[in-house]
Amino acid sequence: DAKHSGSHLKSYSTGMDEQHLRRLAILQDLRTALLNDRLYMVYQPKIDLRSGKATHLEALVRWEHDTLGFIPPDEFITLAEHSGNIAMLTDWVLHQVAAQIARWNEQHHVFCVSVNLSAQDLTDHQLPARIAAILAEHALSSRQLVLEITESALMEDPVEARRILEELRRQGLHISIDDFGTGYSSLSQLRHMPIDELKIDKSFILKLDSQFEDVMIVRSIIDLGHNLGLSVTAEGVENLQSLAMLEAMNCDVAQGFLFARPLKAQELLFWFQAFSSK
Ligand code: C2E
Ligand code: CA
Ligand code: CA
Ligand code: CA
Repeated sequence: DAKHSGSHLKSYSTGMDEQHLRRLAILQDLRTALLNDRLYMVYQPKIDLRSGKATHLEALVRWEHDTLGFIPPDEFITLAEHSGNIAMLTDWVLHQVAAQIARWNEQHHVFCVSVNLSAQDLTDHQLPARIAAILAEHALSSRQLVLEITESALMEDPVEARRILEELRRQGLHISIDDFGTGYSSLSQLRHMPIDELKIDKSFILKLDSQFEDVMIVRSIIDLGHNLGLSVTAEGVENLQSLAMLEAMNCDVAQGFLFARPLKAQELLFWFQAFSSK
């Protein structure tokens, strides 16, 4: 009936306006927020399953907006990509992480930290130089920085991506393929990629303990990674059964809420000290 569909339409269009305004606010405020350091980084440990040690971390960005509250990184990163602001965000993240690694080094806590790059970062030929400059500024070895690139970002322009990654690897950085299993890389492309690690997407790991198909997929990815000489990480490990299964399948590294949520630098150190004394 007309009345019903009318009200439907109205609430639909109001929803659109709200979405639109929210996007505008996020886009407008991101630059200033970055310039004023209103964003911050959190760090989630990655556990080496053979040694049981947490020597690697993944850095993830956070933004508490003054009026909108917590904005998920997926949301503002997508917007930054569409508005041409991603290089600024990536540089800010790299600076924050490099400074934090240097502070930890001074305290004799030597971590390797992964930073997430977005698809657009992989189109910038200046990226290796930008990263080299940031490492030099903080007097860091490239060995302490790992770059995570999603499988789909890698496959947008595999030829260009490969060129940039080769340069980064020459500089000594390690490269990890994120969200593996959700993109469409062919084996022949993967074989030629200058990479060090596969990260199995958490959608395959979250219900590993109850979904037989996921077990088959995860086992195949681990074997594929090992046959290509790569280290394999599982993200989204939330329970002990899944961890035991991953260990039985020879997975190299595990990351997830079972061990720790992403933590602020200070909390991470408390977590690390408690975890290491176990
Ligand atoms: P991602 O790189 O795949 O990061 C993993 C996401 O899974 C993170 O969400 C993390 O908090 C979450 N996670 C970790 N362990 C578990 C678990 O056991 N269970 C569940 N359910 N989730 C878990 P987050 O921090 O919201 O980040 C979402 C995405 O935003 C990231 O996915 C990444 O693509 C992007 N992102 C985050 N920080 C950055 C950044 O600094 N730069 C760029 N370019 N992208 C970033
Ligand atoms: Ca990641
Ligand atoms: Ca991921
Ligand atoms: Ca993701």
